[in-house]
Amino acid sequence: MSRRPPQEPAAGGPGPHGAATRAPRRGLAGVPPILLGVGGVHAAALAGVLAAPAAWPWALGAALGSHALVTALSLTPRTRLLGPNLTRLPPAHAARGEVALTIDDGPEPRVTPAVLDLLDAHGAKASFFCIGARVARHPELAREIVRRGHRVENHSARHRHDFALLGPRGYRAELAAGQALIQAATGVAPTYFRAPAGFRNPWCWPALLDADLRLASWTRRGFDTRERDPARVLRRLSRGLAAGDILLLHDGHGAAGSHDGAVVLRVLPDLLALLRERSLRAVALPVPPEGHA
Ligand SMILES: [Zn+2]
Repeated sequence: MSRRPPQEPAAGGPGPHGAATRAPRRGLAGVPPILLGVGGVHAAALAGVLAAPAAWPWALGAALGSHALVTALSLTPRTRLLGPNLTRLPPAHAARGEVALTIDDGPEPRVTPAVLDLLDAHGAKASFFCIGARVARHPELAREIVRRGHRVENHSARHRHDFALLGPRGYRAELAAGQALIQAATGVAPTYFRAPAGFRNPWCWPALLDADLRLASWTRRGFDTRERDPARVLRRLSRGLAAGDILLLHDGHGAAGSHDGAVVLRVLPDLLALLRERSLRAVALPVPPEGHA
């Protein structure tokens, strides 16, 4: 009988190197530390006002300050203060010279098939963070992504622009619907979730635990949704590029490019050639996420 190896990194908090880990949901254990901190500030402020009513401006200032901090963190995609967040591949993958390609906002029939052909031509794999509603519109394309050996991951059900403002119920609904739509189309449940634009508030974390999803952001991104010059996108992705990086491009919502179609299609050939030149291998995000498979 084989024993299950111990989980690494330890459950319950952000692991080393940005590994996304799961936390047990027991009492306050499922609440992001930042929410506990904000709750503590409010409790202390209330206690302060009760003990010394004249101190109310200080108490109000502390409460408002803690809200401002949470707002700032919500607009910081790579922060781990709102819960575990994968920003780089686990060390074992970096040691193998792997770089993760992640491609967001599809599937898009005018772009995704050409992206798949480019990846095939270079023997590259990628994780596609797809929008649930788009997967429901183009289920055959989502299946094709999986058939070619890539992963379809959860990029929410509708890619709401107010995603960072949702409450616990809104997060649960967006994540669960995205999960159900993708699984219905591809037969595979996503392992990772990425928030629209990376923006989310502390209530996202409990919803991630409910849906059995790990949050993934990126190491560097090309800003190809608004940058029409592929050379600039490539420069952003390749400056400081190293094994273990997670790169972000878009097949949906992408900048149209000046004449030759979607920017991602003009960046990928050079990016994939550059990776090969540097002996780096383009891969999807590891499943299982601990990366010991
Ligand atoms: Zn997106």
